[in-house]
Amino acid sequence: MRVYTCNNCRNPLYFENSECLNCHHQVGFDPVTLTMMNLGDGAYQYCKNAEYGVCNWLLPAGSAGAGGSAGAGGDSGDGFCIACAMNRVIPSLTSDQNRMRWRNLEVAKHRLIYSLLRLRLPLRVNHGGQEEAIVFDFMENASAGEHVMTGHDNGVITINIDEADEAERVRHKLDLGERYRTLLGHFRHEIGHYYWDALVSDNNKVIGRYRELFGDERKDYSEALKAYYASGAPADWNQHFISPYATSHPWEDWAETWAHYLHMMDTLETAWAFGIRIDPVEADGLKAAITQEPYDRVNFDRLIKRWLPLCFAVNSLNRSMGHADFYPFILSKEVIEKLRFIHDLCLASGNA
Ligand SMILES: [Zn+2]
Ligand SMILES: [Zn+2]
Ligand SMILES: [Zn+2]
Repeated sequence: MRVYTCNNCRNPLYFENSECLNCHHQVGFDPVTLTMMNLGDGAYQYCKNAEYGVCNWLLPAGSAGAGGSAGAGGDSGDGFCIACAMNRVIPSLTSDQNRMRWRNLEVAKHRLIYSLLRLRLPLRVNHGGQEEAIVFDFMENASAGEHVMTGHDNGVITINIDEADEAERVRHKLDLGERYRTLLGHFRHEIGHYYWDALVSDNNKVIGRYRELFGDERKDYSEALKAYYASGAPADWNQHFISPYATSHPWEDWAETWAHYLHMMDTLETAWAFGIRIDPVEADGLKAAITQEPYDRVNFDRLIKRWLPLCFAVNSLNRSMGHADFYPFILSKEVIEKLRFIHDLCLASGNA
């Protein structure tokens, strides 16, 4: 993510701001130019979801209710921005708790969509002869005790809104023995399944290499998951996989690794935007200057050479504050090759 400033007074803005806290001008994010804009001159209007305080993205002025004029990155035709137009089910807004959950979900989702736009990935693809668009269902457990599964199916990403509650998520994290569990991480994982369909499954040029790196995805998925939940990951998982869950099936390995690719790219962009340099008093091997915008077709080896020292430095900062590690993962050689495969695929796709 970049650092933005108010066009009026140059005060820094967060991506989520809808008002400049210094000059009080209304501001919002334009998904076409990927910058923060002021609303002052009447060229833009907010997405319809701004009235619920869950979106600060902009549309060209006068596009509410226009109907049908779907433009790339701009007006979806019904007053919603490109990110909110992907919502099919939102939580029922009958309680403050659900409003808070929806807000948390949208913060994560908008950051996800930002990354997809930066990577110039397709938001609509042809998969197995059918058009597959990204759709979000934010679902609540039914009162009958039926549990909504977070997951992906033919472009539809279902998120159990319990995950938008900090306390619930921490409980799941502990129950499952995970070191990292965030809402943004869920979005990045699930969209990974979508991009497996989009970039790998029907692509004869890459499916062979995919299977070399991640394994053969034709093995029975539900049997594989059952086995994983029964006996867990093999003891040496971290030499071959980014997480224990990635061992469950080649599709899950792909989605887990994909999520880490998005973590790395977004965080490197933020570090680049702040001009971060790692220049330690000792440990020369940790020197790194993040001098290139990572989305600007940067060579993968350079990205990794910056990512590893950055993680070590920020982990150390977190430990100084008594927090858990910022990035509690080890990237083995094999995992780095999987990330490289994803990087090259994204470059090829974004260039098309
Ligand atoms: Zn301002
Ligand atoms: Zn919106
Ligand atoms: Zn998955």
